[in-house]
Amino acid sequence: MNKATNFHSGQYQKATTGAFFENINPATGKKICNVESSSEDDVNKAIKSAIAGFKIWSKMPATERGRILRRAADLLRARNEEIAKIEVEDVGKPISEAIEVDVMTGADALEYFGGIAPSIHGDHYDLGNTFAFTRREPLGVCAGIGAWNYPIQIACWKSAPALACGNTMVFKPAELTPRSALILAEVLKEAGVPDGVFNVVQGNGEVGQMLTNHPGIQKVSLTGEVETGKKVMAASAATLKHVTLELGGKSPLIICEDADINEAVNGAMMANFYTQGEICSNGTRVYVAEAVKDEFLEKLIAKTQKLVIGNPADMKTQVGALISKEHFEKVAGYIELGKQEARLLFGGRRYVSDDPEIAGGYFMEPTIFETDMEDARIVKEEIFGPVMTVLPFKTEEEAIEKANNTIYGLAAGVFTSNLQRAHRMVNALQAGMCWVNNYNVTPMEVPFGPYKQSGLGRENGLATIEAYTQLKTVYIEMNKVDSPY
Ligand code: NDP
Repeated sequence: MNKATNFHSGQYQKATTGAFFENINPATGKKICNVESSSEDDVNKAIKSAIAGFKIWSKMPATERGRILRRAADLLRARNEEIAKIEVEDVGKPISEAIEVDVMTGADALEYFGGIAPSIHGDHYDLGNTFAFTRREPLGVCAGIGAWNYPIQIACWKSAPALACGNTMVFKPAELTPRSALILAEVLKEAGVPDGVFNVVQGNGEVGQMLTNHPGIQKVSLTGEVETGKKVMAASAATLKHVTLELGGKSPLIICEDADINEAVNGAMMANFYTQGEICSNGTRVYVAEAVKDEFLEKLIAKTQKLVIGNPADMKTQVGALISKEHFEKVAGYIELGKQEARLLFGGRRYVSDDPEIAGGYFMEPTIFETDMEDARIVKEEIFGPVMTVLPFKTEEEAIEKANNTIYGLAAGVFTSNLQRAHRMVNALQAGMCWVNNYNVTPMEVPFGPYKQSGLGRENGLATIEAYTQLKTVYIEMNKVDSPY
C-alpha cells in the first residue's frame, strides 16, 4: 500500500482538499507514502455515510452481524503478515511482535464481540399483573480516535464492540500510523459489512476535533494522552456525547522480597521494553524491596544487555525504533533529565546501526535508572519510551503508598509468592488493571481500563457492551390506566 486516503460509503475516497502529509518510516527516516488529509467536507461525508450505514446495520439480526464480524476475524488473520509489515514500517516496532500480537489481538476482538453479539439483551421485570422490559440499543455513529503505538489493535478494539452492538464508526487513526485502519475497512467490507458501517478519515488533531464537535456523532472513544482526553471530553460535552478515554499512565510494578526474582526480571522487562516502551500500561516505576534490590538489578542488567536492537523488519530484533524524531527527542530529553535526577545504571544512548538502511533511525537503548527521589520528573511523568526507573521500598505499606502517589491509575503489578499479600496489595492499588506475577497480559475477555486521570470506561470483555449501548425501558400496561380523572 503506497498511498493512504479516506474510506467511506464502502470504498476508498479521494480527499477533497488536495492537502496531504507524509508518512515516515521511523527506522529508516524515509518516506513511505503521502497521506491525503481529510477536509471538513470529507469528515461530513464519512459521517453521512455512517448514518446511512446505521439504518441497515442496526436493523440486521445480531446473529448475522456477529457472523460477519467473525468472518472478518478470519480474513484479518489471513492477512497477518501483510498488516504486520505495515505496522512495522509505520510504527518502527519489531516484526516478531507485530506478527505475534498486533494483528492477532485485533482479530481476537472481532471474534469475541462477533461471538457475543447475539447475546446482547435487556431484562424482563415482572410487576405482578403487568410488566416492563429493557432493550439494549446501539448509540448511533461512534467516532474512534487512535494512538500510534498499536494502530490495528486499537482500530479493532474500538470497532469490534461498537459494530457488534449495532453502531457504525468513523475511525481516525493517528497521523503517524494511517494505513492499517484502511486494511481493516477492506476486511470488514469483504466479510459482508454494509457500506458506511466502518469509515476512515485521515489527519491530525484538527480532524479529530471535527469528529468530537460533530452533532451527528453520539460517542467518542479515544486512545491517547491525558491532555487530549480532557480536550475530547470537553468538546464532547457540547452535545453530551458518550466518551471512552483510554489515556496515559505511569504505572507501578512492585517486586516483593519473597518474589521469584528471575520471573520478576522478566516481568519488569516486559513492562518496560516491549514495543520500545511505547505502551500505555507500562510499569515504569519499578519498586523493589531493599532486601532483593541488588540481586534484581544484577539479573535485570545482565538480561537487558542481551536485547537485540536493530532493523524492525528483522525477526531477531527485540527493540525497534521510536515512532518519530520528535518523540525520540522527547525521550532523549527525559534521559538527560534522568541523569541529573537519578543514577543511570544501563543504556541511555541513541543506538546507531552500522546498517546504512537504518543508520538514520530513531533508536534508543533500553535504559535503567535507579533513584529514591519520589518527586523526580522521570518518576512522575509518562515518558513512553524504553526507560525504567527502579525505586526502593522497605515495607508493604510504603510500597503501596508510593505506588498510589500518582495522578494516573491505568495499571499496576505485584510480584510475590505470598497469596494473601498479593490479594491485600492489589486491593489497595489504585489502578484499573492489576497483574500478579505477570505484566501487560490483556486477554480479550478481561476488561481493561483506567482509574483516576488515566481515563474513563473499559475496553474488552462484557463491560464494553455498556459503553456502546443505551438502555431503553419499556413499560407495558396489561390493565386499565389507574386514573384519578
Ligand atoms: P495523542 O493524545 O497525541 O493522540 C491520540 C489521537 O488523538 C491521535 O489520533 C491524535 O491525532 C488525536 N488528537 C489529538 N488532539 C486531538 C483533539 N483535540 N481532538 C480530537 N483528537 C485529537 O496520543 P499519541 O498518539 O501520542 O499516543 C500516545 C499516548 O496514548 C500515550 O499517552 C499513551 O499512554 C496513550 N495510550 C493509551 C492507551 C490505553 O489503552 N490507555 C493505549 C495506547 C496509548 P494526531 O496524532 O494524528 O495528531
